[in-house]
Amino acid sequence: MILSNLQKIRLQIQESARKCGRDPAAIRLVAVSKKCPASSLQEAMEAGQFLFGENYIQEAVQKKGETGDVALFHFIGHLQSNKVRPAAQTFQMIETIDRFKLAVGLDKELKLQGRNMDILVQVNIGREAQKSGVLPEDTEKLLTRILPLSSLRIRGLMTIPPLAQDPEQTRPHFRALRLLAEEMQKKKYFFDNSHVELSMGMSSDYAIAIEEGATLIRVGTAIFGDRPEN
Ligand SMILES: *Cc1c(COP(=O)(O)O)cnc(C)c1O
Repeated sequence: MILSNLQKIRLQIQESARKCGRDPAAIRLVAVSKKCPASSLQEAMEAGQFLFGENYIQEAVQKKGETGDVALFHFIGHLQSNKVRPAAQTFQMIETIDRFKLAVGLDKELKLQGRNMDILVQVNIGREAQKSGVLPEDTEKLLTRILPLSSLRIRGLMTIPPLAQDPEQTRPHFRALRLLAEEMQKKKYFFDNSHVELSMGMSSDYAIAIEEGATLIRVGTAIFGDRPEN
């Protein structure tokens, strides 16, 4: 199942990219494996998928131990300040930096560990009260403050748009994130301004996210099937 799901998604990525004249190789699939057993990650790896997204630190630490060195993990959940140590040890990228204090704590920990880390700034593009992420109008200020933290490489922006019945309803949010990223890119806030990462799009709407410029899509259910309820 995981193999054929991945094949379907790879085809869809190519089709969506072609449709808007993008290079499919510029779009990376993050397989969201939260609540999946390590055996599912193994199965995905056998199908050529080595990049995973995890929401919970403990779970990710354990799976990283079980999957070995070839798997790479992005953190896509809400990061608590007291978890920066395991986070800095486990992830290749943290996609959900949304406040300065968290960035400071992570930078400090990375300096202790003697390494740098790629990060994304999470933007609350739909301005939802209950959601994490910096508000669009506060994004530039946060980037300005994070920029001097030398262990952090700000690669781009990430968002989780409001839930929608019709995936087309998310398009304006994806577009808004891209426009915001382009504005920040012009002002040179990113580590590599010729290659800015935009993490957006999930199982239901990743095709639309690609049309709007996503470079990282985070897909869980469409690969691994429905997650067990808590
Ligand atoms: C769970 C999750 C996803 C994947 O969602 P699916 O609908 O299962 O594809 C993507 N991004 C984040 C931040 C998530 O928490």
